[in-house]
Amino acid sequence: MSLIELKNIGAFYGPSQALFDVSLEVDEGEVLALMGRNGMGKTTSVKVMCRMLRHSSGAVTFDGRDMADLPSYKAARLGIGLVPEGRRCFANLSVHENLIAAARKGAWDFGAVCALFPRLAERRDQAAASLSGGEQQMLAIGRALMTNPRLLILDEATEGLAPVIRQEIWEALAKLKAESGMAIIAIDKSLRELGQVADRAVILEKGRTVWSGAFNDLGAEETDRYLGV
Ligand code: ATP
Repeated sequence: MSLIELKNIGAFYGPSQALFDVSLEVDEGEVLALMGRNGMGKTTSVKVMCRMLRHSSGAVTFDGRDMADLPSYKAARLGIGLVPEGRRCFANLSVHENLIAAARKGAWDFGAVCALFPRLAERRDQAAASLSGGEQQMLAIGRALMTNPRLLILDEATEGLAPVIRQEIWEALAKLKAESGMAIIAIDKSLRELGQVADRAVILEKGRTVWSGAFNDLGAEETDRYLGV
């Protein structure tokens, strides 16, 4: 059984339909790359998974449970950790306070997050606002991990960061995959970086799933057709 499954999802923003027919699933321990050009429905699909947006048709299940009537705070409690676009942290709180504020019971605690991102230990008492962009992104991922999720969703986690920091974050995600076996959905523009961790890929176009399969089966034809500029 899949950990999360979206089946033929349709969703609207007011009168305008953003998703028409999105289907995807992620198993325990699996990393899924959610791909597509700008505006194709990736973030909207994430909003449906986190219950920040209700779907109008189709079905969403988490661990076999229908999520249709679930409010977003309960989706988080079920075990979905979101690292949203734009790395939201509490600017005036320290690194430690930011992490502790997100904490829920489980193996991921302050020490475990710092073992994954040693820079956060070095900046323990520094205000989040004073961190570099890359460190803020590590903090945002750390905050999601502190909720001890079963599924971690990363929406453009390395967008706008310097290549060396991007690589540091992707290496941490590869370690996370190898050591924790956490299910992960990663949205990113870089095929090469996604390829370091992704098992499978789903491509969206105009609010529809147009391709899904093993990441390594993604060929030039698909990438040109669906991801090329
Ligand atoms: P990006 O890489 O640019 O973030 P995306 O694939 O995540 O793209 P979405 O943000 O899911 O795309 O957008 C899908 C469609 O829904 C687009 O046509 C977009 O304009 C529209 N849309 C997104 N957010 C809203 C909103 N709050 N109100 C109305 N329409 C929206």
